[in-house]
Amino acid sequence: MPVLKSEAITHCENCGKELFGRTDKRFCNDGCRNQFNREKAFRDAQKAHDNLPKIFKIIKRNYGILQTHISPPMCRRRPL
Ligand SMILES: [Zn+2]
Repeated sequence: MPVLKSEAITHCENCGKELFGRTDKRFCNDGCRNQFNREKAFRDAQKAHDNLPKIFKIIKRNYGILQTHISPPMCRRRPL
């Protein structure tokens, strides 16, 4: 007697429609896959943009720390 394998019902990650076919299928069609990836790229870019002020603050602080440890350039004139 064959053993029935219980299969979990999977749904499209973009539109939520029930998927049929391969078990590792993630999207119902190419349009859904493309839309999902476009929106993901937009969200990732937006997240990077949201972090910019924080990144600039860190860079500015690091620059200040480096300024305290770097000797003045050799080309400057020495005071008389
Ligand atoms: Zn879909």
